[in-house]
Amino acid sequence: MSRPARVSVNLSALQHNFTVLRSVVGKSRILAVVKADAYGHGVFEVIDALQEADGFAVACVGEGLELRQAGVDRPVLVLQGAHDAQELQEATEAGLTLVIHQWEQVFDLPDSFFLWPELWLKVDTGMGRLGIQPEDVDRLLERLGPRCTTLMTHFANADEPEDPINTLQLARFEQLLQQYKRMASAANSAATLAMPAARYDWVRPGLMLYGASPFVEEHGLDLGLWPVMTLRAPLVAINTHQAGDRVGYGSTYRCPERMQVGVIAAGYADGYPRHAAEGTPVLIDGVLCPIVGRVSMDMITVDLRPLPRATLGMQAVLWGEGLPADKIASMASTIPYELMCAAGARCARDYSY
Ligand SMILES: *Cc1c(COP(=O)(O)O)cnc(C)c1O
Repeated sequence: MSRPARVSVNLSALQHNFTVLRSVVGKSRILAVVKADAYGHGVFEVIDALQEADGFAVACVGEGLELRQAGVDRPVLVLQGAHDAQELQEATEAGLTLVIHQWEQVFDLPDSFFLWPELWLKVDTGMGRLGIQPEDVDRLLERLGPRCTTLMTHFANADEPEDPINTLQLARFEQLLQQYKRMASAANSAATLAMPAARYDWVRPGLMLYGASPFVEEHGLDLGLWPVMTLRAPLVAINTHQAGDRVGYGSTYRCPERMQVGVIAAGYADGYPRHAAEGTPVLIDGVLCPIVGRVSMDMITVDLRPLPRATLGMQAVLWGEGLPADKIASMASTIPYELMCAAGARCARDYSY
């Protein structure tokens, strides 16, 4: 399926971001998070470029098996663990590291328990999603024995460093670590950057590797990160409208004067957010042009008044190089994670170093 919108993935930028990460975390080991096809960037290309990563984290056993089948021999952590006995067996055979986050995963230990791979125990210190309660750690560690090497937790609000819930979660986790001497892992991108005390033995960054900022107030570039994914699509029509003409579904935009409106061949079918507000910029030939009217399935319409020299076939950057994904995400009331996953899954991708 060949559509005009395309994703370019800049693997040098990925490597640059990894270098930034390494200099930030010092001695902590780095588990690069590559779930959801590396946030839409293509997991195999990303792993190839991240030769220095100490391991990888994926969401589910199926994703982990794909990495093993492709010959990845570094540690692979499965963040949700095994969902049933068959997954458990496959994960065991593939040597995946499993997260245990509920009793049900260890109720009936099979005879093959002694063959199980390394386990991490996930504790809910306040996120309220996956994880056992702190008071159950004792019983579970007793059951799992030394095969459980690492305690992990996950922050609910690390993207807002001032939120007191972060401190509370960290304190609960600290207490467990002092009681049960195990390795530890707590930090996603935001905590890796903003909470040095949360780095521990393994950090688990995803988003920052792909060049976007986990913080609302800052863009990736402010943090020294370079955009890895750029979404581009061509200008396929240039229409001259009169004052008062309407543009797009719902006729929400009314031309204030005689003006040129450009049509760009990308829409929500390509992963561009339908809720992008009027005024969300696209970058054409170095000039920002605001979206007018609603985003359609395969097209967006832009005000070309800032760019009188616009010609058909020019490529518009919808986010990426020169236009931070963070910025587009906030104008569409979403987060850069969602943009990357959506466009990466739907558009043809090309790669460069
Ligand atoms: C996705 C995920 C991460 C990575 O988060 P980023 O915000 O992308 O750095 C880390 N840990 C867990 C448990 C996750 O689910």
